[in-house]
Amino acid sequence: MNVKKLIRPELEALVGYTPIEPIDVLGQRTGAKIIKLDGNENPYGCSPKIYQALANYPYYHIYPDPEQRKLRQALEQYTGLKYESIICGSGSDELIDLVLRLFLQPGDEAINCSPTFGMYPFSTKICGGNLVDVPRDKDFAIDMDGVKKALSEKTKVIFITSPNNPTGNLVTEQEIIELVNTGRIVVLDEAYFEFGGVTMANLVPNYPNLIVLRTFSKWAGLAGLRIGYGIFPVEIANYLMRIKQPYNVSVAAQAAVLVSLADIEYLRSNVKKIAAERERLF
Ligand SMILES: *Cc1c(COP(=O)(O)O)cnc(C)c1O
Repeated sequence: MNVKKLIRPELEALVGYTPIEPIDVLGQRTGAKIIKLDGNENPYGCSPKIYQALANYPYYHIYPDPEQRKLRQALEQYTGLKYESIICGSGSDELIDLVLRLFLQPGDEAINCSPTFGMYPFSTKICGGNLVDVPRDKDFAIDMDGVKKALSEKTKVIFITSPNNPTGNLVTEQEIIELVNTGRIVVLDEAYFEFGGVTMANLVPNYPNLIVLRTFSKWAGLAGLRIGYGIFPVEIANYLMRIKQPYNVSVAAQAAVLVSLADIEYLRSNVKKIAAERERLF
């Protein structure tokens, strides 16, 4: 039997993404002391209160709440945006994938403004879509004319990262509104919102096609527990609720978020330290 023939043809050609060697493995192989910067993980770790909270958590044998009620209530407080518009994922990576699963049919297109985060091309291809890249200009600002010229009947999603990884550029409100007015789904990835303090999340209630993604991986130091969230137009949030895996966010991740939000001053002080280190390193 030929298994290859059964594989979806667009995936058969996919190379997959280059796996990162874990630091302990790399350290052992090279004998070097490793300072890991490539994943933008938080060098100060998570809130130390999480260790005790997770050690004492009594319900690991029970599935998490599929509706993520406590989490969404806490995030409603944190973001100031409506409970019904918030959905959490196993990292914002999962939400990127879920959004594409919701909107892409085979052959549909997603726009990417490189250099930027690597998961947009990855998930677009896995969902059967084609990636259309519109490189940023010489200052790494978005090429707005280029994006508009790249739109086709098949364009469903436009990915914008702000601050951009890896260049740090911010998108303006004007640019987001122009992109939203193209009638495509605009996914604004604000993974680093807490480092710059600029957000467009308050625009989400005004548009049916604007999505803002956030994560606890970077500012809150929870990359290993996998927890991100999105602020969605309620109509889209309702569809996502239908298609997401019911238990997509583990009870450990949920507990860790609640502790993090209760220890926010400590986490903010680490964010300040990272920003100061950024200047020094630069
Ligand atoms: C790190 C990062 C993410 C991934 O976040 P997870 O919540 O860990 O999946 C998403 N977007 C950008 C731009 C990132 O740098």
